[in-house]
Amino acid sequence: GDDRPVVLEVKNLDKSFSGVHAVSNTSFTIHKGEVVAIIGPNGSGKSTTINMISGLFNPDSGQIVFEGKHLEHMKQREISDAGIARTFQNGRVFGSMTVDDNLEMGLHKTMAAGRPLRGLQDYPLVKWANLIGELGLNLVPGPKTRAEMQSVKEQVDAQAKSFGDHLADVRGRMTYSLSYANKRRTEIGRAMISEPHLLCLDEPTAGMNQTETAEVMELLLKLKAEGNTMLLVEHKMDFVMTLSDWIIVMDNGRIISEGIPSVVRNDPRVINAYLGG
Ligand code: ADP
Ligand code: MG
Repeated sequence: GDDRPVVLEVKNLDKSFSGVHAVSNTSFTIHKGEVVAIIGPNGSGKSTTINMISGLFNPDSGQIVFEGKHLEHMKQREISDAGIARTFQNGRVFGSMTVDDNLEMGLHKTMAAGRPLRGLQDYPLVKWANLIGELGLNLVPGPKTRAEMQSVKEQVDAQAKSFGDHLADVRGRMTYSLSYANKRRTEIGRAMISEPHLLCLDEPTAGMNQTETAEVMELLLKLKAEGNTMLLVEHKMDFVMTLSDWIIVMDNGRIISEGIPSVVRNDPRVINAYLGG
């Protein structure tokens, strides 16, 4: 047993899309400070699992209990307010906003569209409204006093600087022009600035080369060392083995194995379904 408190408990989750069982009877637990990884072949239900936890869609049945609260019928915004943040498999940043403004967007609980965020007005309304919805962002009236403005500035500054020098020279640049790794830093920063109690990362190194992957690894190891709780979907096995405390293996919508990295790596069912392929 693990003595750390349970942060997330998922029980008997089911989700079908027009007859396709994307996730079937899936249960697992995440403790405070743990990094739990879900691995498995394409189409095995990994993203669907994260999408249900973050409220992109609700499960057909089953329970999602986060710090004692039931989330299975909640909307994205309520889930994000409860303290779950996420990043996306394909990466989602507000491309024509600066890095700093992307980070500020993550402060949805205290800031808002009080001042027009540079770049936001250039988006097709539907596009940014979608992203705001997907992220569970909640644009409430923004800082009104100088002290509030200062506080937002300081939080953005601290978040940007928490990634070392990497973002230092690009904070005023439009995010679309950044490297993959810096886009991902911006996306992770936007998620982390609200100090979530669970960070869900869907393939944070998708499309990245070895150097960029190593940079994201370094960042996630740092977040882990700071005690953050993470649920990670990832393909790259070295990455998963290094970062995770616990690995869940999915195949065809079901968990076929789970355990600590050294055990999962040697499980014949895993080798058959995934590693052997
Ligand atoms: P993974 O992330 O493990 O590659 P997914 O969870 O994305 O797998 O997909 C699991 C199954 O559910 C696949 O058959 C996929 O086509 C289907 N699926 C996922 N999301 C949707 C959706 N929004 N609409 C219809 N089918 C979906
Ligand atoms: Mg996926």
